[in-house]
Amino acid sequence: MRSKSKLPIYEQFHSWQGEGVHQGRSAYFIRSFGCPVHCPWCDSAGTWHPDYVPKKIQKISPEDLVKNALETKPEFIVITGGEPCIHNLNELCERASKAKIPIHLETSGAFQINGCFDWITLSPKVWKYPLKENIIKSNEIKIIVDTPISIRNWIEKFPEIKNSKHIWLHPEWSKKIDSSILNTITEWVKNNGNPYRAGYQVHKLFSADLNDPQSLPDVPLGGNENLGI
Ligand code: SF4
Repeated sequence: MRSKSKLPIYEQFHSWQGEGVHQGRSAYFIRSFGCPVHCPWCDSAGTWHPDYVPKKIQKISPEDLVKNALETKPEFIVITGGEPCIHNLNELCERASKAKIPIHLETSGAFQINGCFDWITLSPKVWKYPLKENIIKSNEIKIIVDTPISIRNWIEKFPEIKNSKHIWLHPEWSKKIDSSILNTITEWVKNNGNPYRAGYQVHKLFSADLNDPQSLPDVPLGGNENLGI
């Protein structure tokens, strides 16, 4: 049966997962367009920031998205954003399941999760807090550490986070070599151990995503030292 609806897509490309439990594995990324959270250091600002959005956003059916993914023979699909959960993801999940390809979700957790996923990575943002039900449902949490008190603040605000099997602590990318941030992560992991884990966006060190000509270059919002953000 043909797809009934289409999703607004910013980009789709084959690369490998640079973060979390599935780091280093071949993955097909589908980046949806749109995010109402508006983090000032967003590293996918092309999906929402008025200064960076492309003139034309393609609308692609879930059927074609899964077909495109399968052609690259990845281990799994990642639907990321933007914020994928502002869109109806049910058909995309159903198509992936039918094609027997696992599908992972990357979300801020601020919107209801629709669709059935094989893995959910939730990265909470202070500009719109995550739903508690999403924290509980997620398989791993990624805390972006942009100040020395970020980790403590999240744990105090959402104690449910502590029940996650994997809590990744990532330096916010513009602070990737800031010793106060890196030392905060190091000391937290040393003092607390499991389930806290020091993390990094390893794919960026490789420029892995850009090897696929379908991948768009980063836009200069998150982590632009020249702009002071
Ligand atoms: S939630 Fe994610 S996509 Fe949305 S603005 Fe924040 S970092 Fe960007």
